[in-house]
Amino acid sequence: MSRAPDTAQVCVVGGGPVGCFAAYHLAQAGIDVMVLEEHPVVGQPVDCSGVIGAEAFETLQLPRDSVTGALQDLELMSPLGSKVRYGATRPLAYLVNRARFDQSLAALAQQAGARLRTGVAVSSLSPEADGVRLGLRTEGAETHCRARAVVLANGPRYRFQDQLGMGRPRRVLQTVQADVPAAYQGPTKVFFGRSVAPGSFAWFLPTGEGRVKFGVSATAAAVPAFHCYVSALIERGLLAGNSVPSRGWLIPIEPLRRTFSERVLAAGDAAGQTKPTTGGGLYYGLLAARIAAETLAEALRAGDLSARRLAGYERRWRAVLGPELRTALFFRTVAEHLTDSELDCLIRLACHERVMRLLRRRIRFDWHRDLIVGLVRRPQVAATFLRAVVRSCLPG
Ligand SMILES: Cc1cc2nc3c(=O)[nH]c(=O)nc-3n(C[C@H](O)[C@H](O)[C@H](O)COP(=O)(O)OP(=O)(O)OC[C@H]3O[C@@H](n4cnc5c(N)ncnc54)[C@H](O)[C@@H]3O)c2cc1C
Repeated sequence: MSRAPDTAQVCVVGGGPVGCFAAYHLAQAGIDVMVLEEHPVVGQPVDCSGVIGAEAFETLQLPRDSVTGALQDLELMSPLGSKVRYGATRPLAYLVNRARFDQSLAALAQQAGARLRTGVAVSSLSPEADGVRLGLRTEGAETHCRARAVVLANGPRYRFQDQLGMGRPRRVLQTVQADVPAAYQGPTKVFFGRSVAPGSFAWFLPTGEGRVKFGVSATAAAVPAFHCYVSALIERGLLAGNSVPSRGWLIPIEPLRRTFSERVLAAGDAAGQTKPTTGGGLYYGLLAARIAAETLAEALRAGDLSARRLAGYERRWRAVLGPELRTALFFRTVAEHLTDSELDCLIRLACHERVMRLLRRRIRFDWHRDLIVGLVRRPQVAATFLRAVVRSCLPG
């Protein structure tokens, strides 16, 4: 049966990993779904380091053809020169070529029956009595299409969510990342400190394709921090020249107040579903995409796309991610107030055999709650955090 090009049961706004994965699950459930992606090629440009926890590949049965290497060896660098190295016995995560990863998910969705339209930006959303009207901009021309329901998977952009009363994330990280050819094959390095990554961390990551990705995330002023970081990398002999092309982008680190409304669900960065500790969003976003697809498929079958019915989506994803997000957000909020010497002290502490044992027992790439709880039970960590809590409560 041929399908009208301007209608679908579900339109997905955004052909990133989350949009494509939601479309895949919807199509598998027999739903007529259309993905609308503003860029001409899925997966480009890339604003991601492409590190995905090993568990995600198993739990979500993700395609592995974009995997370029494994993350097993980590070195944490303090601002005052101390460092600790952690080598896992198995890969904690895999590195993917992010463009190829997105394209594999898009292919999976299409094979399951989803339609993909690239070079089409959704410019407006108008909920109506029997569906949603989507304004489309393509090569300067304005058209529209209609759907019974919509999944917002448009990354860290919140115009539609605002319009629909879902709000926007209260907290975002600024990032700047570069991707350059390099022979470096040592451990992935994570740098901390006020000058290179205020309130967050910087990374230096061999991709397994003869390149490294390095960048900073920061609660503010990521661009000056990135310049400072580049100088530090040159000083350490990790980088040859300081003229590197880089891209700036945003990561939400707190979910929206509400991720559903009448006929519409938001998933992935569009819903703020990332790990507050690191900002990694692929696993949580893909988990939520699957839950969004299941909820919508059931709602379509029941002929009920009311906000009340779709609230089930939020209940389900919060049951899976909520406790983790709350603990990780609290941890981040306090950690943002650690001074350079406190960060140094914590990294030196991590070299102790007892703490190493705790790390080995509790480290999981995507679930940090257990490790956080274990760490803050240690008297020295608790005392350091308590000082940071007090500082975070002081004005200015
Ligand atoms: C520097 C950096 C490094 C990161 N590293 C990691 C990492 O190593 N591991 C990890 O798990 N996470 C990482 N993240 C986070 C990760 O990139 C995101 O969580 C992930 O991309 C979210 O996927 P998404 O599909 O929700 O959104 P996106 O990947 O942002 O996809 C959204 C898509 O929607 C499209 N779109 C937007 N608006 C419209 C519109 N109006 N009409 C049509 N199309 C539209 C966009 O073009 C885009 O293709 C990183 C983020 C940054 C910035």
